[in-house]
Amino acid sequence: MSHRILLLGAPGAGKGTQSTKLAAEYGIDHITTGDALRANKDMETEYGTPRSFMEAGELVPDPVVNEIVQAALDDADGFVLDGYPRNLDQAEYLSEITDLDAVVFLDVDEEVLVDRLTGRRVCDDCGANFHVDFQPPEEDGVCDDCGGELIQRDDDTEETARERLHVFYDNTEPVIEHFRDEGDLVEVDGEAPPDDVFDRIRNAVE
Ligand code: AMP
Repeated sequence: MSHRILLLGAPGAGKGTQSTKLAAEYGIDHITTGDALRANKDMETEYGTPRSFMEAGELVPDPVVNEIVQAALDDADGFVLDGYPRNLDQAEYLSEITDLDAVVFLDVDEEVLVDRLTGRRVCDDCGANFHVDFQPPEEDGVCDDCGGELIQRDDDTEETARERLHVFYDNTEPVIEHFRDEGDLVEVDGEAPPDDVFDRIRNAVE
């Protein structure tokens, strides 16, 4: 059975961590617009490059992101979608190009999100996530998984993190309300331990 899963949640809610596990569990693609855009920050588009939007914590224009998602969905049998849709227009576009089997919202309090984002460290080689307090690597600055260098994302400073959260509350909360109204939304406490969160998502999917 193919799985088409949408994970919704604010920046720092744990979408990346849970998506990675879901992709491995079900053998499906992990489609994440954030990673795709980070890999193409200086791509020329008619709106300029993604970089300026991302460094300000703002949304990259819809046509750029929609095209990335459409191409990724075309290639995928099953998928877990992470970081998209971030506004109602993107949600509308998504509904035109695919059907979803499960929509899960990871709910996390704003101050917890700020602490998670500003303490987050990411492996520059393999993308694994750590946190200086909540999930420190065995050796400072070094990835447990591959030995790569741990870096802080440009947009994980407190100022930009708060801006990204504002963008989330203004633009993406309506998307969550839309799925809630349709009766399709499974809400999971994203502050529970990661393994519990994963079990709850798996229950929702199966
Ligand atoms: P993320 O890694 O999901 O936190 O995304 C990092 C940044 O990429 C965001 O702050 C946006 O600037 C941009 N981005 C990612 N996904 C989208 C999207 N669906 N729509 C617009 N911009 C996006």
